[in-house]
Parts: sequence; C-alpha cells; structure tokens
Amino acid sequence: MIGIFGGTFDPVHIGHLRPALELFEILQLDELRLIPAGIPPHRRAPRASCAERLFMLRKAIAGQSGFVVDEREIERTGPSYMVDTLGELRAELGEQRPLCLLLGMDAFLGLSSWHRWQEIPRLAHLVVSHRPGWLPEHLDDHGGPLAELADSCLVADPRELTRKPAGLIFMQPVTQLDISSTRIRALIREGRNPRYLLPDEIWNYIQEQQLYR
Ligand code: ATP
Repeated sequence: MIGIFGGTFDPVHIGHLRPALELFEILQLDELRLIPAGIPPHRRAPRASCAERLFMLRKAIAGQSGFVVDEREIERTGPSYMVDTLGELRAELGEQRPLCLLLGMDAFLGLSSWHRWQEIPRLAHLVVSHRPGWLPEHLDDHGGPLAELADSCLVADPRELTRKPAGLIFMQPVTQLDISSTRIRALIREGRNPRYLLPDEIWNYIQEQQLYR
C-alpha cells in the first residue's frame, strides 16, 4: 500500500514529518510519497521557489526508509490538481494497488472545494489525521457531500484499507503539533527564531539562503 502526502512544504516542518511517520507505521505502508505542489491552486504562490522547497523536503526525509519525494507536480505546468496526480499514479501503479491520500483535518474539511474532488475517493482511500484546531466534529458544520462521504465510507480498522484499492476513509489521531509553515514564515519575518519547530538542517538552509525574510 502506498501513501501520498501532498502539500506546499513552504517550508517543511515537524508538524508534517512526525504525523507522516506515525501514519507510515500505523498503515504499514510500503512507501510514502511526499509530493510538493508546483502551483498550489487554492492559495497564494509559495514564498520559496520550487527548487528550494524540493531541496528542503529532500533534506528533511533523507535517510528515512520508505519516504520518497515525488516531483511530478513541480514538473507539470499549470495548477497542481491532486486529482491529476492521483490519476497518473493510478495509471502507473495499476488498478488494484491500494493508494492512501494522507490529509490533515484542515485539508480534508476543505476537500469539497478541490478540482473534480468527487473523483478523488475513486482513485485513493482518504486517511485523515487530526490537526490542532480542526476537529472531526467540524465536519457536521460543513455538512453536505463531504459529511455524507465520511458517513458512508468510514472504516475503523486500517487493515480494511488493504482490501480495496480506493474509496474508504480512515481517521487517525496523531501527535498533535500546533505548527504551520505560515507561523514559521511569520517568525522569521519578525526576526524571531523558529528553531525546534523544524529540523535544524532546514533552519540552517533557510538562514544560508535568506529565505522568508
Ligand atoms: P501553510 O501554513 O503555508 O498553509 P501548512 O503548515 O498548513 O502550510 P501544507 O504544506 O499546506 O502545510 O500542508 C500539507 C499537508 O500537511 C496538509 O494535508 C495539512 O493538513 C498537513 N499538515 C500541515 N501541518 C500539519 C500539522 N501541524 N499537523 C497535522 N497535519 C499537518
């Protein structure tokens, strides 16, 4: 089973890395693909360049077996739609292989605004990790098609994900780290020290390259 973890990673921080590792172990994934968005469709352009974000992500996962960076969204022109990425991965990996799209609760609650979002559960399972400030109960506030999807496809045991290639939803509490790239960029801009919110080597690189000033 393969995990897919997309994001802007501007910059990558331990709120990405620790939950990713916990999910990798809990789901017993063969591989976790971290896929940085080239042009994120739903937000301002990233502050660091594609090459810088890619470099930081590679450095952050170096030596972690099973973790790989997948550059396809950065190489593709136009907005980085997850539905396109999953379609490509499905074509490459075959119809039967279970794929799990890993999403923080904030991303999951916004899913119904994603491009051709209804196709996403046909291409992959959704594995939703808890994130500080975003409660599963918020799903009811969002209501509509997403709540319906969660109602009908939710499974309690991650082993069920291995039995089908796509279409199920699994929610997993992970270590709660109230860290965001936005906050790290703001600290740097204010001349404050973001150390320990992200790996030291990433912070060193940010300083060398004078990013996020
Ligand atoms: P920004 O602050 O720039 O919006 P971010 O910190 O939210 O960035 P992204 O790269 O946009 O990070 O997030 C990619 C994925 O990682 C999303 O699915 C998001 O839910 C998840 N994620 C990010 N930070 C955390 C965190 N602290 N805990 C759990 N999940 C997280």
